[in-house]
Amino acid sequence: MERDDVVAPLVDAIRMLTHAELVDYSGHASTRRDAVSFYINSGASIRPIVTAADIVAIDFDGKPVDAGSTTDSTVRRGVSPPLEFPLHAEIYRARPDVRAIMHTHPKWSTLLTMTGVPFRPVYPQGALLGDVPVFDSPLSVNTREMGERVARTLGAGAALLLKSHGAVVVGATVVECFALAAYLEENASRQYLAMQIGTPYVFSAAEQQLCRERLATPGLFKKTWDHYFSKL
Ligand SMILES: [Zn+2]
Repeated sequence: MERDDVVAPLVDAIRMLTHAELVDYSGHASTRRDAVSFYINSGASIRPIVTAADIVAIDFDGKPVDAGSTTDSTVRRGVSPPLEFPLHAEIYRARPDVRAIMHTHPKWSTLLTMTGVPFRPVYPQGALLGDVPVFDSPLSVNTREMGERVARTLGAGAALLLKSHGAVVVGATVVECFALAAYLEENASRQYLAMQIGTPYVFSAAEQQLCRERLATPGLFKKTWDHYFSKL
């Protein structure tokens, strides 16, 4: 696929993540380029108005690749990947099935980690996240060693929370990854609100399984994407 075809949905996703307040002035999203490299928004990019020129292609050591295309001009302008690129690199290295990763700073999901409240599925789409482990450090994931620890904590899962910091969501496509990132925060906000008036009902294992079978579909992911896209 051409660079533009791969990068365009990534740009849309970052704008939507910002619009939905899942990403603020930092936070980043990436999509796999090949077995050894990926596209990611630059550390300096202004998230709500990010464009294809803000996307850099780097290998798992953070070195620019793809010179000769748009990235060539971005490299000349000194555009660098975010400091936390090892978070993406080490998940791609460990998980060949992952083709998109989003690191967000969502308020409600992070609030749960600040107080040690485990994420629990309390609405149907929340079940699609499965078990969401918590990475036991609030610090920036900016070394290969930390990236490897994050990848190990994520395991084969779809998401993990970084204590008092943010969330990491992965997917087989940018559309799926975006939808899961939205569901994660929506579930956490509902869980938090329910806790203000009582003990939230947590979906049983059988209910979670049914939700996954019925809702983890490309059709629902695209519908979720289109919903957020229409609000840009
Ligand atoms: Zn972060």
